[in-house]
Amino acid sequence: MRRCSIRSRSRPACSKRRTSACTTCPPGGGAAPRPCGWVAASSCSNHRRRPPNCWPVPPGDHEGCGLYVHVPVCVRACPYCDFDFVVDRRPDVEALVDAYRRECGERELFGRTMRTVYVGGGTPSALGPGGLASLVHALRAWFDLGAVEEVTVEANPEHVTPDLLAALVDAGVHRLSLGVQSFDPDVLALLGRRHDGSTASRAVEAAASRGLSVSVDLIAGVPDAPDGAWADDLARVVSLPVDHVSVYALSIEPDVPWTALVRRGRRRMPDPDHQAAALRRAERVLVAAGFVHYEVASYARPGKEAVHNTGYWSLRPYVGIGPSAASASYEAYGVVRRTNPRGLGAYLGGDPAEVERLGPAAGAREALWLGLRRLVAGADAEAVADRFGRSRAWIDGVLAPAFARDWVVADGSRIRLRPDMWLFHDAVGRAILGGDDD
Ligand code: SF4
Repeated sequence: MRRCSIRSRSRPACSKRRTSACTTCPPGGGAAPRPCGWVAASSCSNHRRRPPNCWPVPPGDHEGCGLYVHVPVCVRACPYCDFDFVVDRRPDVEALVDAYRRECGERELFGRTMRTVYVGGGTPSALGPGGLASLVHALRAWFDLGAVEEVTVEANPEHVTPDLLAALVDAGVHRLSLGVQSFDPDVLALLGRRHDGSTASRAVEAAASRGLSVSVDLIAGVPDAPDGAWADDLARVVSLPVDHVSVYALSIEPDVPWTALVRRGRRRMPDPDHQAAALRRAERVLVAAGFVHYEVASYARPGKEAVHNTGYWSLRPYVGIGPSAASASYEAYGVVRRTNPRGLGAYLGGDPAEVERLGPAAGAREALWLGLRRLVAGADAEAVADRFGRSRAWIDGVLAPAFARDWVVADGSRIRLRPDMWLFHDAVGRAILGGDDD
């Protein structure tokens, strides 16, 4: 049997994943598989632009490793934002890349094989075309991305220029996540965003025309949004060449500038009922337009689910570099989670990361809770039991309060939230996370 050289580096048992067609193509489409189950990207019209020479049979959701890179700069501070960033219009890209390199060296990460890469922030596009290109090229030099399945970069709409898109495409980026939030001028003003709706629409169209898969973030339930603005936002997003939509309810942490604006009477706190209605409307409109509501806050065209984010809900380990970035590994003895220091100064100054260890029971509870975010796939009870050395009876016991309240349903190994319970995922979490059985 011929072996695929890329595949054989990471997966010794090639023949176990043999397939009869390119499983990422529609039935009848795609190229004939190589014996090891990979197909040549160059002969598959849907995947011709993928950088690796081979296209993998999609591995299980829990397989591989994800890389997250936190870019902690923004060109201005949005009043609702609690993320880790500094305002810097001329960020020192070289210093930042040097700091990432130092972290990778100290943690002995060089050469590690990554299934997905996600460059988030902050505002990665604030690094500019040259800065982003040099960052992604550095990641390609430091990690084994020979078989990477998805490379995503976050951008603000006002930064999307032909030069930026060319730099991303040349660097092998597949996916652009745009912080649109709204297309409405009044909502954008309330949120303190710089772009306007036309800029956002043009950014989506330009990115899609360059072959990038576009994901759009929207914020639901903004207090004092004009009547009809949310309906218009949803109508606009489904009219654009968007593959993926993330819908977040506005959430205000105590120390963000929004709270001071509330005290001065210039903003109001979000109303949970208003937000729930907005989130339900989003589901109705997006599903009617052909999107799959596959995760609590995520909608995708069929086959366009975010591979990187799916790892967070599927026991797939991840490595985060940069300030505040988290890493996690899932082992039989539990979960090891590492969180880098918050703040660029602390990170550059070498402050230590926090390391948290969860025992196998707590790890299994958390894995079930995260898995329940997946509305289509659900939590895989058998996979959780295997990973953490639990019995299925133990898993069923953990889920008993949720079953008793009719919040979840079982379908073999898969446990899913009941329809409409996605709005109450946190409440389900409180019911299953509380045990102290480690
Ligand atoms: S919302 Fe995004 S662009 Fe605004 S401050 Fe936060 S990270 Fe920066």
